[in-house]
Amino acid sequence: MANLSIDAAKKRSFDAIVIGSGISGGWAAKELTEKGLKTLVLERGRDVRHITDYTTASMKPWEFEHRGKLPLEVRKENPIVSKCYAFHEGSEHFFVKDKEHPYVQEKPFDWIRGYQVGGKSLLWARQTQRWSDFDFEGPARDGFAVDWPIRYADLAPWYSHVEKFAGISGNKDGLAELPDGEFLPPHEMNCVESYFQQKIAGAYKDRHVIIGRCAHITKPNDIHLQQGRTQCLHRTICERGCPLGGYFSSNASTLPWAAKTGNMTLRPHSVVHSIIYNVEKGKATGVRVVDAESMEMMEYYADIIFVNAAALNTNLILLNSTSSRFPHGLGNDNGLLGKYMAFHNYRASVKAEYEGFMDFTTDGRRPNSLYIPRFRNVHKQETSFLRGYAAGFYARRSSVRNEEGHGEDLKRNLLNPELGLWNVGSHMMGETIPKESSYVALDTGKKEAWGVPQLRVSIDYDENDDKMVKDYFEQLTEMFTKAGFINIKTHDSRHAPGLDVHEMGGVRMGNDPETSLLNKWNQLHSCKNVFVTDGACMTSTATQNPSLTYMALTARAVDYAVKEKKKKNV
Ligand SMILES: Cc1cc2nc3c(=O)[nH]c(=O)nc-3n(C[C@H](O)[C@H](O)[C@H](O)COP(=O)(O)OP(=O)(O)OC[C@H]3O[C@@H](n4cnc5c(N)ncnc54)[C@H](O)[C@@H]3O)c2cc1C
Ligand code: SF4
Repeated sequence: MANLSIDAAKKRSFDAIVIGSGISGGWAAKELTEKGLKTLVLERGRDVRHITDYTTASMKPWEFEHRGKLPLEVRKENPIVSKCYAFHEGSEHFFVKDKEHPYVQEKPFDWIRGYQVGGKSLLWARQTQRWSDFDFEGPARDGFAVDWPIRYADLAPWYSHVEKFAGISGNKDGLAELPDGEFLPPHEMNCVESYFQQKIAGAYKDRHVIIGRCAHITKPNDIHLQQGRTQCLHRTICERGCPLGGYFSSNASTLPWAAKTGNMTLRPHSVVHSIIYNVEKGKATGVRVVDAESMEMMEYYADIIFVNAAALNTNLILLNSTSSRFPHGLGNDNGLLGKYMAFHNYRASVKAEYEGFMDFTTDGRRPNSLYIPRFRNVHKQETSFLRGYAAGFYARRSSVRNEEGHGEDLKRNLLNPELGLWNVGSHMMGETIPKESSYVALDTGKKEAWGVPQLRVSIDYDENDDKMVKDYFEQLTEMFTKAGFINIKTHDSRHAPGLDVHEMGGVRMGNDPETSLLNKWNQLHSCKNVFVTDGACMTSTATQNPSLTYMALTARAVDYAVKEKKKKNV
């Protein structure tokens, strides 16, 4: 007679488990399954199937009940997520609503989340730049955080690996501070953007204005067609989901690819509660999961576990994974789990007008803008603040709405707006310094609906950030003035951290187990079969949009993990 409990355990046993199906989890799933590992992907949210579940993707503006805007009631009920520019009537179903998933704000923190298959990969703005050695060497050179255990050369082949598959458009600009990648053709600049690029190149040796590098298929290669994806048609409504697969998302790319191998089991509605640590075996043996629909607690087992729940939730899961060996959270021998959190500072922006090129305007849309790579403190310390900022840039012709007249006259006036001056603008993307005082912890007194403790978030700006904002205003004002722009206005939104959606740290990488949680392979120093490759692993933040680096780190860590499994080291 069959032993029922052994059979049940077998059914719940896999070679690998991936927690989370967003950008980094999708990559872990693809790489693990391609290498032949039977992989369980656990996702707390509902399933979102590519194309069929993009319910608003093809709706016309007038087909939305509120013409795309969200009613006041919805915004009042969701004061946090309503601050995110991408949260609207066409995309609200991909965002976490404030009341459903509470957390404790010890200091104000706007936590923007997407709990579904694909995570925030459906919602992101798709900007993708590589880090350089100026970034990896930053903490050691400037004496903050701990030294990164890797350098650019370690990650460069993995950047290439993920770029080719994801499809990254960009121009080969030849800049040491922003290495070139495996680019598809770049988007075009308009006349004022090209003019600004030339003006800055003439005025400064070390400042550059380039077209953004982004995860859009400008010309599909065979590998993209094999994924069923095709060229981006510039609809610029990406956060509704793109039926063409024109931009990279887990749903359009990595997850269907993993499914095709026959090695992936995807389980939505599966809230990972904690990781099971077996003291005798000296390793993790699986995970505890709460089924979000039945509320049943169950266990799944595997040799390798990848934690990709996005930075803050990854911290939460590890902190909640206690055992006699790890009473303060898995891998937390040094008490630093949840600490040294950092983010990007997007508080500052500059706007202006330009009176030139009045015979020109733009036509159509472009799902991308321009990028000014970091130019402060790159080669040496030159300001009173540490690190620096990158900046976005755009130029577009303003139009003046003419609401004069009645009937046919009014219709004609509305359909033929007069063109005004060119509007130009920039926003800052500042690096923040990870500090022990910026942390997340479990609030054991408050629980989520699934019995998991709520996360307490205590993350803030500091004097370094204020100095950086001031410098950004001064430098951008100078650059705009040199380009002949007028009516320059600076703005500090002073919004709380979080809205930049690039939270990082808490499980940082490093060489020394006394001061870091993960080694150079993203492996917990003290629990070698658990890998963390989302934003939680980041030792410092640099200024680049982070997701491309998570993808590359994930692919590299999977390669190592699978080799270690073959050697029976994990
Ligand atoms: C509006 C917006 C614009 C952005 N623009 C950019 C950009 O231009 N460039 C860039 O690099 N980044 C951008 N980002 C950030 C980017 O989306 C994230 O860096 C990226 O998605 C992180 O990948 P991830 O895998 O760590 O997390 P996610 O993509 O968030 O995926 C995490 C997944 O884990 C699941 N999960 C969480 N907890 C559990 C649990 N306990 N059990 C099971 N599953 C769980 C979640 O439901 C989710 O599906 C943007 C984000 C937003 C919202
Ligand atoms: S801009 Fe491109 S990727 Fe975005 S929705 Fe449109 S076609 Fe798709």
